[in-house]
Amino acid sequence: MLNFNFFLPTEILHGQDVVTGSAARFREFGKKALIVTGQRSAKMSGAYADVENALLSQGIEFHVFDRVESNPTLENVNLGAQAARSFGPDFIIGIGGGSSLDAAKAIAVLAVNNLRPEQLYDGHFPTKPLPIIAIPTTAGTGSEVTPYSVLTVPEKQTKASFSHPGLFPRIAFLDYRYTESMELETTRYTAVDALSHLIESYLSRRATDMSDLFVEAGLTLWGRALSDLKAAAFSSGMRESLLVASTLGGMAIAHTGTTVVHALGYPLTYFHGVPHGKANGLLLAEYLKYNQRHAKSRVTTILKLLNLKDIGAFRDLMCELLPCDLKLTAEQINEYGIAASRTKNATHSLGDVNSEVCIEILTNSLG
Ligand code: NAP
Ligand code: FE
Repeated sequence: MLNFNFFLPTEILHGQDVVTGSAARFREFGKKALIVTGQRSAKMSGAYADVENALLSQGIEFHVFDRVESNPTLENVNLGAQAARSFGPDFIIGIGGGSSLDAAKAIAVLAVNNLRPEQLYDGHFPTKPLPIIAIPTTAGTGSEVTPYSVLTVPEKQTKASFSHPGLFPRIAFLDYRYTESMELETTRYTAVDALSHLIESYLSRRATDMSDLFVEAGLTLWGRALSDLKAAAFSSGMRESLLVASTLGGMAIAHTGTTVVHALGYPLTYFHGVPHGKANGLLLAEYLKYNQRHAKSRVTTILKLLNLKDIGAFRDLMCELLPCDLKLTAEQINEYGIAASRTKNATHSLGDVNSEVCIEILTNSLG
């Protein structure tokens, strides 16, 4: 018997020029839009110009909040919320990487709810969030199809996610050309984040027959992009494969969530400034090794879909793409390992991911 539940209310519109070609769709959400984005990527990618043209053609008034930082903090999204409250938009358009899309989600809640940003984590919003349109310019987080927003919480010295069904974007516009302006490192780090979502979903207690289908399709596309990704020969085929693989990863984790890899990666970003995708990638080979104890055939399938002969080849690939240049002290490993073992993500992992397992993964990866 096949086992799954499926809920994904995001409409995915994919293709070249899909934003300008679907300009009339923006009108469905009202007459005033707040565009939420980082400082450079929306314009560099060409996505901003397309959105601006689409909104002008539909007579939609708009205001831009372009101060989203990478790994946005509660304070950063609160600034965006203030901009939203004074402009009074009917809907929010997030353009950028996961940081901008996640900030757009938080702002969609705070714009219409009188909450302090830390109350986002209560998950109870008296007024439902404003509709969100998501336009990714990286191929990594899959945030365009998830109900999650990951923010940095300095008081807790970590990153943490919150989730709500109202945070699924109403439309995700996918045009791989917006990812073409990413430089080499961002391309690789974000690709590895997508890979991490696919692998973590497949090796999650919450995996279903449906999430597995998304993962297997995503890994196949990711594997197809691999030779160009390694050679830094960024063809349009590679860009498109990675963007769709990333969205498939998002569709998978929208159902399963991520596992302890993400929880172990957050302190690497918070304390060591390691970009999100790289942080996961540094740990993935050891996570595969750990999972051989619990789901050997699944690990074999992952390697096969990626055309890699064994975990050693996977480890070499990560070190070629990232590279593997971070070392932690025993004290840091202990601290991060214990914290990660206490997260919900750890309970989604297979086996019993206790502090010893977390410390083992960190020691073998970064010790
Ligand atoms: P990001 O932090 O959004 O962006 C990284 C850098 O790349 C920024 O400097 C950004 O510039 C730039 N950039 C983005 N697109 C570009 C383009 N097309 N051309 C040139 N530069 C570009 O990176 P990300 O990896 O996509 O997102 C990471 C965040 O997403 C983390 O906070 C992570 O925790 C979160 N995340 C969320 C989910 C979810 O389901 N919601 C899942 C996984 C991860 P700008 O600053 O100008 O934008
Ligand atoms: Fe991620």
